[in-house]
This record gives sequence, C-alpha cells and structure tokens, in this order.
Amino acid sequence: MIKAVKGTRDLLPPATVAWNRVEAVARAVFRAYNYHEIRTPILEETQLFARGVGADTDIVTKEMYTFVDRDETSLTLRPENTASVIRAYIEHRLDQRPGVQKLYYIGPMFRRERPQKGRYRQFFQIGAEALGSESPAVDAEVIELVVELLSRAGLSGFQLLINSVGDANCRPQYVERLRQELKSVAHAMCGDCQRRADTNPLRVLDCKVEADQPIIDKLPHITDCLCDPCRAHFDTVKNYLADRGIAYEVRPRLVRGLDYYMRTTFEVVHGSLGAQNSVLGGGRYDGLAESLGSKVHSPGIGFSIGEDRLVMSVEDAQAAEPLDLVIAPLGEPALRHAAVLARDLRRGGLSVELAEGKLKRAMELANKLGARFTLILGEEEMAAGRYALKDMASGEQRQVTREELAARFGGN
Ligand SMILES: [Zn+2]
Ligand SMILES: [Zn+2]
Repeated sequence: MIKAVKGTRDLLPPATVAWNRVEAVARAVFRAYNYHEIRTPILEETQLFARGVGADTDIVTKEMYTFVDRDETSLTLRPENTASVIRAYIEHRLDQRPGVQKLYYIGPMFRRERPQKGRYRQFFQIGAEALGSESPAVDAEVIELVVELLSRAGLSGFQLLINSVGDANCRPQYVERLRQELKSVAHAMCGDCQRRADTNPLRVLDCKVEADQPIIDKLPHITDCLCDPCRAHFDTVKNYLADRGIAYEVRPRLVRGLDYYMRTTFEVVHGSLGAQNSVLGGGRYDGLAESLGSKVHSPGIGFSIGEDRLVMSVEDAQAAEPLDLVIAPLGEPALRHAAVLARDLRRGGLSVELAEGKLKRAMELANKLGARFTLILGEEEMAAGRYALKDMASGEQRQVTREELAARFGGN
C-alpha cells in the first residue's frame, strides 16, 4: 500500500471544515484592511531563498527540498513565502502602484523538519506583507490585523510579544557588545551557542537549551542599545497599540537572526501548543528588497501564521457543517425529477444530497449524514405535486408543494 509521504498528511472532511472556516475569516479580515491576495509559484530558484532567508539559517542549510532541474537550474520548494512575495514585488514593479502595497497569501510551504506535534513537512501559512512604508502606524495596523484575525478565527488566551531589533545604525554595536559578553560565558553553553557566539551572536538569544537560559537572561538587552530614531519608532508603535487597547509584552530576547530584520518584531504564543507554542511570527525587514535586487528602497513589514497550529487550536470548538436536505427519489422517473429539484434548491444556497435506492437506506444515510430534513419523492408525490418533508430532529413529517419548499428554502 502506498501511503502519504512522511511529514505530510491528508486533510479529510470534516477537518477541512475548520480549515475553510479559518481561511474565510482570514480573507474577510484581509479585505477589511485593504489587503489583496498574491499567489506565487511553489517552486523558486534556490538562490532566492539563500539570499532572502539567509544562507546560514537552519531552513536553508538543513530543511529545504532542493533539486536540480533537467536544465541544471537548482530549484527549491518554497520554505516560506516572504522572499517569493518580494521577488514578485520587484519583478512586476509593484512599487510603482499607488499607496502601501498590502499583499496576503494562503498556501503550503515545505521544510524537511523532524516531525512533531503540529509540525509538518508540508505545512500551511497564512501571511501578509505591507510594502513601501517605514511608518510605525503601519506596524501597529499590521499587529492589530493579526490580533483581529486570530480572535475572529476563535483563538483565545493568546499572548502578543513585541520587540525592536534596531537598525543598521545601532544593531551592529549591540551585536558587538553581545559578542564581547559572550567571550567569557560561551564556553559553558551548548555547541550551537559556542559556534554562534562569534558568527551570529543574535541567534544565541534564540537558543532553547534549558541549561543556557540563565546565562542568556544575563546578556545585555537590545532595547537598552537602540539609537534615538529606533527608540522613537518603537515607542510610537507601543503608543499606537495602547490607543487600540491591544495588550502586549516586550520581550527583549525576541530577535531574528537575519540581517534584514529591522526594528519591530512580534510573535504570538498560545498555551495549548506546549513548548512549540508560537502561532505567528512577524517583523519589519526594511533591507530585504534591496538584498534581493530592488533598485528602490522598499521597506516592509509582514507576518506568517502557522495555519496547521491555528486550526489545531480552534477546531475542537467547531461543529461540522450541517447538511440541509437529503432527497430520496423512489424509482427512475422520480430520480430525474429529484435531480432537477436538487439543482434548483442548490442554486438557492441549500446543501443537498441525492440518495438513490431503497427508502430505508436513504433514511439511514440521512441520519448518518446529520441531515436536517429528508424529502421523499415517489410516483404518487410527483402526480400530486406534493412532497413528503421529514424533519429529522423531531421526526415530524408533512406534505409540501414545490412552492412551499421553495419559499421555505429559498429555491425557485
Ligand atoms: Zn545554546
Ligand atoms: Zn537604530
């Protein structure tokens, strides 16, 4: 028997109901904030991610699905979507369109991670990028949007963490300070930290090794090292969040080890997910477009939500989509009549299933499918122009004309 590839999974009904619900909420929220959908290819040239995600990140060095195409081009299944969106933004000169470009995406990403709870090698992200502005008002609006989206999707009890990681002016000095401090303590830390203490000290702050935590807690905070413009930007973002009544916690350790991340970073964590509790990560990346070849300065901010985890956190509370009506036609002429009736009712917005065969089997099926009503349609009913409509919850059955049926269910 051939099974789904390790780390991938089939999403089956009724679980797909929760997925569609979350996506419908996301699209409605994006529309309200004037975001528009972008769909980029799942395949990109490998160098896009090496440059856009960072050549020395775990994603690029260990987790990408990369292969050489028949023409010798190295291609990669996208491990995330920000680099692709920026590539499309540059390629199609979206910077020339009016206003801040607000783009959202929903789709699968691919990383060859060790499978664990809520983590898959094909996983889904809901994300967005706002390109063309450095304003802290955009940061606050993006954060407001994610809080709105998660709340409306049904997630409760989540926590918003924010930080500023400075910019090209102040961060190098902080990194140097960190590097100096680490010289005296790195020998007591894990292997990754010892290596990163010199090559990429910021990433030491990401370390999850328990024994390293007390050492990391004593390291200097980036929020104490911000230059005046970065501090003013961060203070303004915090004020704008306060105006909106959005609760947050400043987490000085919330940094991203990639050079193009600047100023605002944020993350949303949720208790039900255990140690791997991040539902969403985002931040400002004012230098990314230039590093991918943009001739114009295109500051931006974005985020991505782990849709698998979000759905997992909210789906318990969701009920399956009910089926409105099962039509049980008795015999071939009734089946043809029922098929046309079903079409008309479906056009009217009803969910309808047509159950061929014996009446007893049709009623059993209607019960198993959780149908609200069953309509019995035989030669007699056709001749009389009246159908037998049974309410499956109460068991009550009554005769209805086609017009009454249409009036009741909105068909024609
Ligand atoms: Zn460590
Ligand atoms: Zn700065």
